[in-house]
Amino acid sequence: MLDSLLQRIRIVLVNTTHPGNIGGAARAMKNMGLSQLYLVEPREYPADKAVWRAAGAQDVLENAIVVETLDEAVAECGLVVGTSARERRIPWPLLTPRECGERAMVEAQHHDVAIVFGREDRGLTNEELQKCNYHVHIPANPEYSALNLATAVQVLCYEMRVAWLTAKEGQLPHFDDWDQPPADHKALELYFDHLQQTLETLSFIEPGNPRQTMTRLRRLYSRIRLDEMELSILRGVLTSVQNYIYHTDNRIKALEKEQDGE
Ligand code: SAH
Repeated sequence: MLDSLLQRIRIVLVNTTHPGNIGGAARAMKNMGLSQLYLVEPREYPADKAVWRAAGAQDVLENAIVVETLDEAVAECGLVVGTSARERRIPWPLLTPRECGERAMVEAQHHDVAIVFGREDRGLTNEELQKCNYHVHIPANPEYSALNLATAVQVLCYEMRVAWLTAKEGQLPHFDDWDQPPADHKALELYFDHLQQTLETLSFIEPGNPRQTMTRLRRLYSRIRLDEMELSILRGVLTSVQNYIYHTDNRIKALEKEQDGE
C-alpha cells in the first residue's frame, strides 16, 4: 500500500512549450519514484528533445497521457494543487512545498492527487489556478522567483519523496477522520456550472459575466473541501430552486393566458 502511494500522485504539465522540459520533468519524477505524467496540449510532443532530456526515464515519457484540457487531466482527483511562481491577485489557500508533500502523501492513501504546473512563459492562468484546492509556491528569491519548469517539478517531487520516506518510518500524519470521501474535481466542476446557471436565472449574476462572484465562491468551497454527500445536498438545493422557478414561471404564464382569454 505504502509503496504505491507515489503512483497516486500525478504531475500535470499544462501547455508546455519546450519538449526538453517534458523530458526533464520525467527524469525528475523517476528520480523521486513518481511515474504518472499528464500532458495538457503540449506544444511539441512527442519530440526527440524530450527523449534526450528524459535519459533513463523514457518509460515515464512513454506512459505519459496526453489530454486536451486540464479538467480531463485531473477529473477523478480528490486533491488538486496548483503551482505558482508569484503572488496572485486573489489569495488562495496556500501550502509550503513541505506541507504540499505531506498533504499529498496523506491524501494519496484515499484518492488520486494532482500537482499542476504552468507554461514556461506565463505560468497557469487565473482560471486554471481557481480550479485547484490549494496553491503551492516554492519560496525562491523574490527578485527572481520563477524556476525553470523541470526544476520546479524536481523540487516538488523531492518533497513528495521526503514525505513518503517519513511515511515509511511510520510517521505519516493521519488523514482527517471523515465519514465521506471528498468530492472529486469533475463533480465540483459540474456543481460550479450548476451554481452559475442558477445564479444567472435568479439574476444574482449577469449571464456570462460572473465577475469575481464565481471566483469568490470557488475559493469558499476550496477552503471547505466539500465531501460527496455535502455536494449532492447542494446539487439538490439548486435543482429545487430551479424547479421552483420553473413552476412559478408556468403558473404566471397560465394566469396571463387566463386573463388574456377573459
Ligand atoms: N513567468 C511565469 C513563470 C512560469 S515558470 C509566471 O510568472 O508565472 C513555469 C512553471 O514552473 C510555473 O507555472 C510553475 O508551475 C513552476 N514554477 C516556477 N517557479 C516556481 C515557484 N517559485 N514556485 C512554484 N512553482 C514554480
